[in-house]
Amino acid sequence: MGIPSRPDPLAFLGDELGALRERHLYRPLRVMSSAQGPIVSLDGRQVISLSSNDYLGLTHHPRMKRAAIEAVERFGAGSGAVRTIAGTMTLHEELEAELARFKHTRAVLTFQSGFTANTGVIPTITGETDLIVSDELNHASIIDGMRLSKAPRVVYKHADPASLREVLAEAVRRGRDGQGEPYRLILIATDGVFSMDGDIAPLPAIVEVAEEYGAAVFVDDAHASGVLGKDGRGSVSHFGLEGRVAIQVGTLSKAVGVLGGYVAGSQSLRDILIQRARPFLFSTSHPPAVAAACLEAIRIMQEEPELIERLWANTRRFKAELSRLGFDTGRSETPITPVILGDSETTIRFSNRLFEEGVFGTSVVFPTVALDRARIRTIVTAAHTDEMLDQALAAFDRVGHELGVIRG
Ligand code: PMP
Repeated sequence: MGIPSRPDPLAFLGDELGALRERHLYRPLRVMSSAQGPIVSLDGRQVISLSSNDYLGLTHHPRMKRAAIEAVERFGAGSGAVRTIAGTMTLHEELEAELARFKHTRAVLTFQSGFTANTGVIPTITGETDLIVSDELNHASIIDGMRLSKAPRVVYKHADPASLREVLAEAVRRGRDGQGEPYRLILIATDGVFSMDGDIAPLPAIVEVAEEYGAAVFVDDAHASGVLGKDGRGSVSHFGLEGRVAIQVGTLSKAVGVLGGYVAGSQSLRDILIQRARPFLFSTSHPPAVAAACLEAIRIMQEEPELIERLWANTRRFKAELSRLGFDTGRSETPITPVILGDSETTIRFSNRLFEEGVFGTSVVFPTVALDRARIRTIVTAAHTDEMLDQALAAFDRVGHELGVIRG
């Protein structure tokens, strides 16, 4: 006797998947059987990777591996509890003290990821009496953080300080009650570097508007951490705005090479997050190896400046060559270089052909970017050699001609 067949209550999921496949929006996972790096083994094939966020090549740096192994030997594999119960180890506190020194802020609190840092901090410090003003292209984790907040929010045009000023002036004129009652806090939230286009937020102009209105600036430096500013301190350092940005979120998952997020700001910001931020209160802390390797990364970034120099030299060369070949690389100013191809079908085909040519460049399609702005998103790292970049560029050239994306 078999199990009696019943209608599957989740059958609609199959229909949704079918619709995604039909629109060329379904993306299978590629599986990596090597370490992360400039050359990886993906789906059983050796390829040059232009798709990681491992900007400085720290995921596999010998000092990082050693720090992680020593932490495992000394402190074990897991932390065993959330920070507020029994999961705060000396390593967590040391990492936060080092990050605060590095960022030139009073205090830092780490989170399990950059994503949870955003969804932790935004609803903790904002409520019904406050207003959030957000760039229209902010990262999903900022958007989710806003969704979890009771604060009303308004959106300004991407990277446009004039739009920010206009939206803010109107919101302040109306006020909390429609009659001009002031907000307790106005929080202007922006990515430091936008992850799909690689452009940098116009932070000096944003800070100017904020100061005019007594607002606080919140910058998410996920893609600026380890990339922009002195020794990779981020966008605030890049623009010389120390002391004028209330909240800096950083990630430990990209250039830092491990996993995690952090919030850098005042002592009271850190203290209130410890009391109230839900991912901090209700989810287990980093394993010792994670905290130890992150700590080592911050030291490496200051002791081996040649890594960030190499990252930028590679970036400049790769961008210039892609443009010379005739590709549209959008408004990127950072190591994130989108190769904008338009429709998702061409983009996915392009990515698949590149893969056959030994180059891994991920396609990014709707809904992550607009329907007609599908792209191959490339990130070069400090670990790429000239030869690897030349090979990758030759593959872009071949596939570009084959698919009629570039001519000449
Ligand atoms: N913010 C931005 C702007 C990001 O690009 C990302 C990663 N895609 C995150 C936050 C999340 O960081 P993490 O991977 O550490 O969760």
